[in-house]
Amino acid sequence: MRDSTLQKRQQVIDKALDMFVARGFENVSVDEIIQETGISKGTFYHYFESKEDILADFGKVQNEVIQRWTQDGPKNVTSLEEHINRLFLELSDTVCEIPRLIRSIFALAAQNEKVAEMHGDLFRNLQKALSKWIPEPGKIDALVATYAGTLYMWSHEDNADLKQMVQERMNVLWRGIGEADGKIKLTPSFDRSRKVRVAVIGGGLAGLTAAAYLSEHPNVEGILFERSPQFGGRAFTYEKEGFTLNYGAHAIYGIDRHTISKIGQELGLTFSSRQVDKRKVIYEKNGHMTPAPLDAINMLKTDLLGPLEKVRFVGEIVSIVTNIHKMKNYATLGDFFAESTVSEEIKELWEHLVCSNFFISPEDARKVPGSVICEYYQNLFLAQRPVNYILGSWAVITNQLTQKIEKSGRWELSMREAVDEVAAEGEQFRLTTKKRTELFDYVIFAMPVQQVAKLLKGTPWENEVVPYENNTSTEVLVYDVGLKRVVNRPFSYISDMDNKCFISDISATDNTIAPPGGQLLQGIAYLHDNFESEAELKEYQDRRVEQMEQLFDRHYPGWRDEIAVKRMSKKAMVQSVKAVASNKFMPVRIDGLPFYFCGDGCEGKGQLAERAFSSARQAAKLLIGQLQA
Ligand SMILES: Cc1cc2nc3c(=O)[nH]c(=O)nc-3n(C[C@H](O)[C@H](O)[C@H](O)COP(=O)(O)OP(=O)(O)OC[C@H]3O[C@@H](n4cnc5c(N)ncnc54)[C@H](O)[C@@H]3O)c2cc1C
Repeated sequence: MRDSTLQKRQQVIDKALDMFVARGFENVSVDEIIQETGISKGTFYHYFESKEDILADFGKVQNEVIQRWTQDGPKNVTSLEEHINRLFLELSDTVCEIPRLIRSIFALAAQNEKVAEMHGDLFRNLQKALSKWIPEPGKIDALVATYAGTLYMWSHEDNADLKQMVQERMNVLWRGIGEADGKIKLTPSFDRSRKVRVAVIGGGLAGLTAAAYLSEHPNVEGILFERSPQFGGRAFTYEKEGFTLNYGAHAIYGIDRHTISKIGQELGLTFSSRQVDKRKVIYEKNGHMTPAPLDAINMLKTDLLGPLEKVRFVGEIVSIVTNIHKMKNYATLGDFFAESTVSEEIKELWEHLVCSNFFISPEDARKVPGSVICEYYQNLFLAQRPVNYILGSWAVITNQLTQKIEKSGRWELSMREAVDEVAAEGEQFRLTTKKRTELFDYVIFAMPVQQVAKLLKGTPWENEVVPYENNTSTEVLVYDVGLKRVVNRPFSYISDMDNKCFISDISATDNTIAPPGGQLLQGIAYLHDNFESEAELKEYQDRRVEQMEQLFDRHYPGWRDEIAVKRMSKKAMVQSVKAVASNKFMPVRIDGLPFYFCGDGCEGKGQLAERAFSSARQAAKLLIGQLQA
């Protein structure tokens, strides 16, 4: 149609919709529309097959709202709940003045094929848009049904406020989704006359989690100090060219048994996750690719083990799950290997698994305590969902934690403010920064343990933290590339067993973090830390970059020509304390010290971010427990 024809057609639609709104769809005839708009009957039927056709156009506005919402980047998503509520509220906005017409549409959808089709398309689009953030179809259906039901009820009431009705019903639904166990949260009551002042040093996952728990308590106030210009620490998220990049990735291992799920329930966080496709997790060895033996199906398919070894490896898994594996009694994996009768293939597989899950080199994998490996894999093998990505990245979690702390009104979140000194003053602690000096009743250190040791140097507490100052960290080479188009997608994860590096196609699992049609790949190479000189280290790093790029070349041909965003760090700290026997995780409380400690270098459940979350939860709960005692 020509522009002028389209314009005229739109004028007819607008006028007709006005008439439907004022008098109800069924009370307006085609003749009346023709009369009001001054067009001929022939023109009307040239534009539309029937009066119902006009309504089909009405769906366009709603579809545009859905489309705009889908293009919103994760950085602005403060919580899944708010993000999805916003979509329903914006949809409500487009119809809240026309209850009569909506009532007509509901009635017509039951009688008229075209209107039913328009209605159906709209709800299907809505479902599709929501599936970007919610992988479970049942939850999507519940949300859409709640919205549709509310719309229906509202259209049959006089003068009701649609947006308020939608908001109220969504709140009820989210509470149902969020607290699956249906427990009612009890906030402990304090009978102290003065508020307790707490300082949290460090605004990474651990510091934010500890402060969020404490912010729930009416008699606790505090300051969260973060020295950098943003919160999130190593889980800091930023957007570039439409790609959402984390400094650290946002994979969650065994999410159904992971501390983040518990924290989500306890703090009322809403987020969603999607599982990495196990069939597309591939190991490459000597130029040959084979499925990683992650479950029974992959175990049958993999060439990594021969038939007898497969049976033996299943036996290994069973003994880990039932906690009877002999490995737990050995000081290190290497010591276990020295005495074990298992085949070299199984030993290599164990070593590779430990490299992948602990992000360490084979040399270091052999130094991990047997008990740590057994505990880790018992949890992971029992999990229903081994590897998931938080949809929208860490920002979805950190945004909610920050908001929760702020909303309490009792906490100050201070960025660009490093704590330089901690000292005792009577029964309190004096913290000094470049900006101020403040007194606190309690201090939580939520930063890498080596930095805690430095901060407490020269204080009366120095000796107690000496055992942690020389801990070594887990470091990797990270190579992120955002590609303008999907160059290849044969797997979601490919691990080069010979060179101990891997590439995750993060956008294959989390479709929220790349622009439409784009692909976000993260390459990681494990590093050892045994160097004689700086020159040797440099030469080693350059070789690792080369091996990483060769892995990209082999599996993502043409990737170099499609780069929209590239970021490389030759030495990124994944875990502040490497899980090897010569290191020592810091306890959440140390005998003789009046402080609390948390972070991924502290004692806690799991590895990486789970250690940060679990130690922070523990620190906050212990502190609250002490207040109640
Ligand atoms: C490349 C990479 C990939 C990763 N992938 C995963 C993954 O897939 N899954 C997973 O679970 N984990 C992953 N991790 C690990 C995860 O990011 C970390 O375990 C987690 O972010 C650690 O959080 P934290 O709060 O303990 O420490 P940090 O994030 O280090 O937070 C400490 C904060 O303290 C601040 N600070 C330090 N000193 C002071 C001071 N004196 N005053 C004020 N502030 C101070 C720092 O600026 C920092 O923000 C990955 C990490 C990296 C680097």
